[in-house]
Amino acid sequence: MRNANFRDVAYFPKPVFPQRLSSAAKRQVKLHMLSLCLGILLKDIKALSHSGVNLVDPWGNNQFVVPMLFSYVGDEPEIKDLSCVKGPPSAFPCEFCMVFLEQLSNLSIAWPQRTESTHNLKLQEALAAQSVARRNEICSALSMHAVPSGLWGFNLSNSAILGGAYQCFSFEAMHNEDLGVFLYIVDTIKPYLEQYYGTAASVRMMVEINERMRQVPRATDFALPYCDGEYIPNHSRVQARELRNVMQVLPFLLDGLDDDLVEVAALYVMRYKLAFNKQVVPNITESTLIQIDETLAAFHEKIQSTLASHMPSEGQTIKYHKLSHITTWIKRLGDLKHIAAQFFEGRHHRSGRNAY
Ligand SMILES: [Zn+2]
Repeated sequence: MRNANFRDVAYFPKPVFPQRLSSAAKRQVKLHMLSLCLGILLKDIKALSHSGVNLVDPWGNNQFVVPMLFSYVGDEPEIKDLSCVKGPPSAFPCEFCMVFLEQLSNLSIAWPQRTESTHNLKLQEALAAQSVARRNEICSALSMHAVPSGLWGFNLSNSAILGGAYQCFSFEAMHNEDLGVFLYIVDTIKPYLEQYYGTAASVRMMVEINERMRQVPRATDFALPYCDGEYIPNHSRVQARELRNVMQVLPFLLDGLDDDLVEVAALYVMRYKLAFNKQVVPNITESTLIQIDETLAAFHEKIQSTLASHMPSEGQTIKYHKLSHITTWIKRLGDLKHIAAQFFEGRHHRSGRNAY
């Protein structure tokens, strides 16, 4: 029912560039356009975030309401466009904190959070610079584009608790986990088995894993992929909800083949279930947060000693790093199951077509 409360308010224009424009220039123009469009779209609501407004609630009572920028749901690299922060390989690729690029797989350090005021000061300094080279140098200190984010300007925007342009890009399960970190695990099973057991044995193991998947009974509300017995390595057409189901059976698919892999898969699903509580009335307590952190630490230790070295990125990815922010976001937003992109992703096709 809560989805019925949302409605489309605007469609962003699609830029068409002359061919001779460099890709860096196209990106600058695109970011400026996005920033301008958001500025127009959000102008009134930003003003109300400073003044507040009287509204009548569904029960007929007058309420004084102060809107704020609370949560923005999206995927990489869209979030980078919205925040005007540069992703990898820039030096500080997280739009939420100031983690170093080469420390993305280190989940144990809490890096300083980004704020609108530091970015705004840096931008003013960059825009006043004498040369483009100097401007770029100033911006690279924060890995930011020389463009103000269109999301800047809400009241209390530097409050880590109340939100703002850099606090609003919170963790979203579908993009970050189902189609993110979980697929890194799935994709690394094959090279890992090859290295430890040799080509012939690993091929037999892969056949066994896929055959087990084929044999798992399918309940009507528990869809699993078929993929012609080739889920690993080819899951290109598998949907997010099916991947969530695979997450739950993966420890059993790997059972008896490699104990370390079973442990990685089991720890992943355990911490996922803790972070995305599906109870009707979620009861998140301090002990839940401690449990999430502990399970994440155990998962992190296991994946670093097994799969990480077999990933092309060696585990240094922005989505992996964001696992370290989960408890921060739960403290600010409550139960993360309410932050979901799946419904809106499903509407992309229909709403886009209707607009044009
Ligand atoms: Zn971060």
